[in-house]
Amino acid sequence: MTQAPVRTEVDILATAREQVLERGVGLTREQTVQVLQLGDDRLEELLELAHDVRMKWCGPEVEVEGIISLKTGGCPEDCHFCSQSGLFESPVRAAWLDVPSLVEAAKQTAKTGATEFCIVAAVRGPDARLMAQVAAGVEAIRNEVEINVACSLGMLSQEQVDQLAAMGVHRYNHNLETAKSHFPNVVTTHTWDERWNTLRMVREAGMEVCCGGILGMGETIEQRAEFAAQLAALEPDEVPLNFLNPRPGTPFGDLEVLPAAEALKAVAGFRLALPRTILRFAGGREITLGDLGAKQGILGGINAVIVGNYLTTLGRPAEADLDLLGELKMPIKALNETL
Ligand code: SF4
Repeated sequence: MTQAPVRTEVDILATAREQVLERGVGLTREQTVQVLQLGDDRLEELLELAHDVRMKWCGPEVEVEGIISLKTGGCPEDCHFCSQSGLFESPVRAAWLDVPSLVEAAKQTAKTGATEFCIVAAVRGPDARLMAQVAAGVEAIRNEVEINVACSLGMLSQEQVDQLAAMGVHRYNHNLETAKSHFPNVVTTHTWDERWNTLRMVREAGMEVCCGGILGMGETIEQRAEFAAQLAALEPDEVPLNFLNPRPGTPFGDLEVLPAAEALKAVAGFRLALPRTILRFAGGREITLGDLGAKQGILGGINAVIVGNYLTTLGRPAEADLDLLGELKMPIKALNETL
């Protein structure tokens, strides 16, 4: 009689439970691949574990953030997913916002309970005019509104990093966008290492680092795990996770939207690779996950949301997100905890 083979391999979720949930040690790249390869029948179990990890290592609070576009469209770079590139036939046209509008937007954002207000500009990096505009905007907001100011202005020189730190910018967003090995398929006008350099300078200057990317840009499962590991090595304070929303007129306009189950597995996989980071749901989730996805994501490892509109496409209304947090009994992180 032949005996049934003894199963020696340990289940990845059992490993993650012991390593990540109990000890707070994030999954390695190889382990993340295993998580992303799990069948749909394990999805619920995976989301539950990611939620437990987030509750244990981050707590129940959800960080709410608003973003405003100071300069929209007309960017000289060729990021293939981006409708703000001036190199594609996408419908977003260049436009600037003035300082009073910026302050008004910060006030409206603060009213939702948000603790971060991020000023975004579609540029390769800021020029003197943009830096002056940002300086005036940050000063006016800090004088009039109780909210942390974050910026996302592209690649920076050391001098610009120092200037932003001196203005009191709390957090700087600069996304690595995708795994280093996939980056040349997404952007050709600058390199992943140039982006990494800005992030290193931001960290050294004492600002919080916000760095994430977009999933569903034709990367393999292995590259998705590679990206999670590269982010873990950076140790960012916040990781915004976007899902590609293929914009007409961009080179990625015809890519398929990531299936919901795959997107949720990725959310959970990133949480298990980055147990302590603020993991934020950003653009593209409505079309990938639908309304239900917001709930599953928040119960599957996410602990921050953007309220209201995204940069170039309409998001869910702020009230819908805030109602959802109330329904899930997730308190909104208070500003005094972050100052
Ligand atoms: S992602 Fe940023 S740098 Fe790239 S094209 Fe869009 S605005 Fe420009």
